[in-house]
Amino acid sequence: MTNSEDDPGPVSDPSELTVWFEVLEPFKARTYDDAPVRDDYSNLYFVGTGKSRAHAGRLGRRPDCIPEGARAHWAHDLWNGPVQIPRCTVCLVKHPVTQVID
Ligand SMILES: [Zn+2]
Repeated sequence: MTNSEDDPGPVSDPSELTVWFEVLEPFKARTYDDAPVRDDYSNLYFVGTGKSRAHAGRLGRRPDCIPEGARAHWAHDLWNGPVQIPRCTVCLVKHPVTQVID
């Protein structure tokens, strides 16, 4: 076993962590007449709440607690910063938010 420089190891500083957004209820595009979307989008509407959950992670490292197949995307928002959506409890145990930087 070698100590590769490519692997920074476990995150010790929670201020380095950023947020992964897991989409719980994605928006879905529908049409009023169940026909294909018109060129001017006049029959298009969206359903769903867009509800999502925040996980602690880093760029290119999808947290394990996001279920496989769930839609998720990384963002620049700091895990330790103000997050407007509920945080994942698994991530909170692993990476407690000590000080919220407002
Ligand atoms: Zn999580």
